[in-house]
Amino acid sequence: MLSGTLRCYSFPMENNFTRRHALLAAAAAPAAALAGTPPGDRPRSLAKPSKITGVEVLLLEKPLKERFWMSNAPIGGMHPKASRLILKVHTDAGITGYGEGNGGAADLFRKGFADLFLGEDPFMVGRIWEKMFAVTYTRELVQKGWSRPGVIAAMAPVDAALYDVMSKACGLPLFQFLGAYRNTVPVYVTGGYYREGKGIPELVSEIRGYVDQGFNAIKLKVGGISGGYSVEDDYQRVKAVREAVGPQIKLMLDANNGWDLATTIQASNKMYGLDITWLEEPLHWYDDVEALKRVKINTRIPLASGEQEMTRWGARRLMETDAIDVLQFDCHAHAGITEWRKLAGMAAMSHIRVAPHHEPQVHGHLLASVPNGYILESFANPDRDPFWFEIYDRKPRIEKSVLYLDDTPGQGIEFNAAALKQYGTKIL
Ligand SMILES: [Mg+2]
Repeated sequence: MLSGTLRCYSFPMENNFTRRHALLAAAAAPAAALAGTPPGDRPRSLAKPSKITGVEVLLLEKPLKERFWMSNAPIGGMHPKASRLILKVHTDAGITGYGEGNGGAADLFRKGFADLFLGEDPFMVGRIWEKMFAVTYTRELVQKGWSRPGVIAAMAPVDAALYDVMSKACGLPLFQFLGAYRNTVPVYVTGGYYREGKGIPELVSEIRGYVDQGFNAIKLKVGGISGGYSVEDDYQRVKAVREAVGPQIKLMLDANNGWDLATTIQASNKMYGLDITWLEEPLHWYDDVEALKRVKINTRIPLASGEQEMTRWGARRLMETDAIDVLQFDCHAHAGITEWRKLAGMAAMSHIRVAPHHEPQVHGHLLASVPNGYILESFANPDRDPFWFEIYDRKPRIEKSVLYLDDTPGQGIEFNAAALKQYGTKIL
């Protein structure tokens, strides 16, 4: 019986199935079909890479049409622009990997940062990560003329590109390569910025537009005291939105370090009746961790923070305050997927859910790979986040507040060549 069953599934090289057919089948379904295939018969593009042979780096920049103000600063500066770094890693097997990061890391790649990983085995990502991180605590930092935040920023696209290579080499989408937990992820949209010349009617109209697009979770900006918005002003803005969208829509508030401790406690209690899903980064930058515990004791709204943390040690301190309910560590801005995964584990042990800052195209895979993944941030306004709308020919689909991941190997993104040409400056 057993041998008969096995015969049904044996590799049918006899009859009309030629070696060429086998190679084509292998190309279509690499992970399964390559099992038992001699290495010499494998298409070159599907061989396991063992060496990073080259790197290309592109800096994308595009001016924004207007200032989208957070509490104390506009997105992209007073002369606002979107910027992004795109890294393409080449390997000896012909597999290429893409990683995205902050435009601020471009300077390091002009000053030799790629020397740290060229020639390395992309599957040794743990070692490569430590090699890059070690620069932050050695003489090499000043000798190269790099900055510590610059290194942390530059690590992110390198690490992501290596995960793209590894998962493509295995023929798996990134979220499955990491150990999938699910293939869809909830998504919210961030809007409700302070916009010059626009008041509550325009705010309500904007938010209604997101609901009309199918979003069921929306984050608004508050905390704009330094821009002339009192707590009462913010309360009226949020109340108008709550009344416009009804009770079924999740509302989050992001104060972007706009308040002191007393104002945070006052504001959070005032907003509580508006059914707020979380309050994000309420406290001024100089004491935004220890004092958060005081907020926690005095508010009933869940607290979120962590988008500015550069390492797991900073985020550990944040979690150890026992003040946050939601960790927002950003693998695109800081230290990459390797660091994010470690933090997701610590967050799980601390009963904290993860809701990373920005960049659903990569964070979607990460949230789908951990049980404590909460919700993804996205932007639905092409004026606020033009690159999400312009630079991809393929990306994970967001529909009605859900991101869908498919079986495309790697991160599942393809860039639009015309957009990269239009906005890109070649760094390497
Ligand atoms: Mg934020």
